[in-house]
Amino acid sequence: MNLYGPDQTRNVVLLSHYGAGKTSLAEAMLFTSGAIKRLGRVEDGTTTSDYDPSEIERNMSIGLSLLPQEWKGNKLNLIDTPGYADFAGEVKAGLQVSEGVIIVVCAVAGVEVGTEQVWAYAEEAKLPRLIFINKMDRDNADFLRTLEQIQTKLAARCLPIQLPLGSQSDFQGIIDLVTMKCPAPSSTGADLPTSLQQQVELYREKLIEAAVEADDELITKYLEGEQLSNEEIFRAIKESIVVGKLVPVLCGSALRNIGIESLLDAIYSYLPSPEEKGAIAATNSATGEKEDLSPSAEAPLSSLVFKTIADPFVGKLSYFRVYSGVISSNSQVWNANKSSMERVGQLFISTGKNQQPISQLAAGNIGVVARLNLTTTGDTLCNQEHPVMLDDIKFPQPNFSMAIQPQTKADLDKMGTVLPKICEEDPSLKFHRDTDTNEVVISGIGDNHLEVVQEKMRRKFGVEVRLEPPKVPYRETITVATQAEYKHKKQTGGHGQYGHVFLKLEPLPRGSGFEFTGRIAGGAIPKNYIPAVEKGVNETRQEGVLASYPVVDVKVTLYDGSFHPVDSSDISFKIAGAHALKKGLSQGQPVLLEPIIHLTIIAPEIYTGDIISDLNTKRGRVSGVTLEESNNIIEAQAPYAELLHYAIDLRSITQGRGSFIMNFDHYEEVPSHIKEKIINEQERARKE
Ligand code: GDP
Repeated sequence: MNLYGPDQTRNVVLLSHYGAGKTSLAEAMLFTSGAIKRLGRVEDGTTTSDYDPSEIERNMSIGLSLLPQEWKGNKLNLIDTPGYADFAGEVKAGLQVSEGVIIVVCAVAGVEVGTEQVWAYAEEAKLPRLIFINKMDRDNADFLRTLEQIQTKLAARCLPIQLPLGSQSDFQGIIDLVTMKCPAPSSTGADLPTSLQQQVELYREKLIEAAVEADDELITKYLEGEQLSNEEIFRAIKESIVVGKLVPVLCGSALRNIGIESLLDAIYSYLPSPEEKGAIAATNSATGEKEDLSPSAEAPLSSLVFKTIADPFVGKLSYFRVYSGVISSNSQVWNANKSSMERVGQLFISTGKNQQPISQLAAGNIGVVARLNLTTTGDTLCNQEHPVMLDDIKFPQPNFSMAIQPQTKADLDKMGTVLPKICEEDPSLKFHRDTDTNEVVISGIGDNHLEVVQEKMRRKFGVEVRLEPPKVPYRETITVATQAEYKHKKQTGGHGQYGHVFLKLEPLPRGSGFEFTGRIAGGAIPKNYIPAVEKGVNETRQEGVLASYPVVDVKVTLYDGSFHPVDSSDISFKIAGAHALKKGLSQGQPVLLEPIIHLTIIAPEIYTGDIISDLNTKRGRVSGVTLEESNNIIEAQAPYAELLHYAIDLRSITQGRGSFIMNFDHYEEVPSHIKEKIINEQERARKE
């Protein structure tokens, strides 16, 4: 491939609901543009985009893939993305480095939950877009029904620039509404069938009427009834698309490779190049000032790393987009986020799993580099003399957690090095060791996301792990004050053992922790034995008397006891302290405490009722609802034990449009009917 200028490049991201046909469409585009010689199929696991074994096995994309190709002397960097909500981080990364979007809609299923979700992402990113109605060859495919759904559910400004020629098994091709021709291949040749004349004119009129609105000169001409040339119509359509006033709707069949040439043409005619998109905003990391960088090879270098792949054989692969300047193979660049030099080795452009070495890459283009030392996703690479930082990618927050349990000791050892690598690859993944439950907890977007991590650990790094719901860090406490005595006395031949203590136990307010004081009057126990009693108490309070959870919010006072001048020892007093505490805890009407979480839920207003009724089933309490733009912000509290699946529950209630933040708030007593269940479960787990 040649070195393309920013005027000859298009960076375009493919988005859709899962299964609408993005991967098949990407394959058909690669085939039509000549980048591949054989058309692969999703079913056979032979597509260029889904080459990862997990993707083939699951028949779904799980990571974005970069699919560069050439079309009529221009370069297209097509980015295929996963359609499943668990992998939204990849969609966000793809949107960040693109100037245009293609939204694929299935002609049978129409607008689905995921279509609305990706439409919302494209709106948020304010990117010009095309809609491609795919699967026009399938039984029950219906262009007009799908169009109507698009116009009512997405936006009325989505207008066809093509109509299908035939449908379902009779789908033959498309009719271009500007040229009024049927581009090959279509059995009818180039001219429009007379039976469709009227319908074509009707939709053409609607298109022109909408397009000329963006152009004062053309609107006057149009209103005065003057004939517009096709060039003028093309220009007006492009202007309206770029400013977001028009979203053209195209159609075809990825599987039968129909409508793909027209789609490639439409990308070049209607979506902006990096040059047309214009200057990119950055922050000078030396001065902190904002500046605009021109999208040209002559400008200072700015380049964003938007994806990192951990590969056990080639090491780390970093995908980057150059916004300004030129980056060369075997050079030194400045990582502005890490304030450090980074050595860049051989640069590549990648097509699925194949990579082609290149000597340099200029503004507007996307490439790959192996083994960057300190660079992670979201970092800007630039020149040290002109250090700049580009906007960060806003990845979705990881809110769904599972405990990760290694199968063997060897797996445990390897897990420590493999987990950081995998999390570095995907910023919507995080892990930490929970010191309360002593588990390693991994958090992601949903169950599929974490299953893929588990699979990746096994396949790529040979580490076998199980995923389990994380343990709830329950606590125990007492509800009434009490006193307990214990005398540890043993006579065994020589030296005996003797320790005798009186403890007072008092409940403390929630969140106070655990206190121990030794207040012995009149030397009933020598002072040097007090630390031993405290040790016994402290060790014992780690496992309470109800279900072996740590004891909190209790004040323990050692107030009396007795000793033996020969037989008393630290160990005897430690044992006495431990038993006295156990006794006291049992007498103090013990209860279980559970962590209560504060939730801030953000979702479109229409879902508020459903969110609140779901929270009621989860023992939740809503403390406030406020409206902000079109979203409601719901503040609530609920027990952590009820929220282990909340990321998935909220997604299904809000069709993927809700998000939430959760923070630990306080501990509260577990209601008695639930307490019994927890105690029984703990008992069972201990016996296993
Ligand atoms: P993605 O999840 O959006 O990437 O969708 P895929 O490309 O994996 O396609 C999902 C399914 O739809 C696969 O079984 C494809 O073979 C099928 N498919 C994709 N495009 C077409 C098409 O144009 N016509 C028909 N009949 N099937 C298609």
